[in-house]
Amino acid sequence: MEDYILDIQRMSTEDGPGIRTTVFFKGCNLQFKWCHNPESIAFQRQKYWVKDKCIACFSCQEVCPQQAITFNEDGMQISSNCNFCLHCVEACPANAIEVKGEIISVDKLFSELLKDLSYYHKDGGVTFSGGEAVLHHEYLYELMKKLKAAGIHTAIDTAGAYPYEVLEKLLPYTDLLLYDLKIFTNAKHKYFTGVDNDLIKANAIKLGKLEYPKIWIRTPIIPGATDDEENIRQLGEFIREYMPNIEKWELVSFNNLSREKYRLLGKVWDYQHAELIAKAKMMELTKIAQEYMPQAVWSGATKLEV
Ligand code: SF4
Ligand code: SF4
Repeated sequence: MEDYILDIQRMSTEDGPGIRTTVFFKGCNLQFKWCHNPESIAFQRQKYWVKDKCIACFSCQEVCPQQAITFNEDGMQISSNCNFCLHCVEACPANAIEVKGEIISVDKLFSELLKDLSYYHKDGGVTFSGGEAVLHHEYLYELMKKLKAAGIHTAIDTAGAYPYEVLEKLLPYTDLLLYDLKIFTNAKHKYFTGVDNDLIKANAIKLGKLEYPKIWIRTPIIPGATDDEENIRQLGEFIREYMPNIEKWELVSFNNLSREKYRLLGKVWDYQHAELIAKAKMMELTKIAQEYMPQAVWSGATKLEV
């Protein structure tokens, strides 16, 4: 079985306990306005032209068997004739055409993940992220079975917007769920993510009744979207009522490092001028969260204050 993998990030310390390898799948069913990985949204491979690297030699045009490449004042344009042969990528002397997404089989990825056994130790392991990793459930099912048989700790980072049965099948092979709860009210959730949150909450309630896997709730603290006291209190009440046995509630501060990714995609990021959250604000929101769940913590970069 094969699927599109966006990236394999080694030595990660932000996606679960210990030192981990995080696998990012391509493809997501949500459209967060603040999304930090815009290259993970599409399910297929994508090519990006990196203007700053291009030396205008036009070798890419010459080798393209489909005559799919043209250049205009906005830079390289690739038409729908492209058959993804990647001759242009190979011909480019400046590495100015980047490919996001690689088809990798379950067996090959499993072999890759085994290479990192030396730093997984007892707590570390493999985390699946995205995009939405759970949308690749058939692939994950095969891979996670192998990882569990090899005694490797597994975690899934998920937004929860899919039928519960899809995730349920993976739970016997999952040690930790990093489950996102971002915005409590439905209309606001829909405005910022493109979908309402009924399914996400319903899945959370079912997960809250389980003894295993362990669950960490993650709430990104995004300026103007999730960073108000009312939202944290509403989420806190929900978690206290329906998910009292979670191991951790992590408030993750917004980071503004994705501007370049959007620029390469030819998109404008809604948050390109947004500032980091102040440390005092993160501490204040965490204190509120701790009224509901003492195990609430915060993480991430904050605004430099003098
Ligand atoms: S081959 Fe590379 S450097 Fe040359 S025009 Fe194409 S993208 Fe630019
Ligand atoms: S991938 Fe192949 S078909 Fe597509 S633009 Fe490049 S050379 Fe042309």
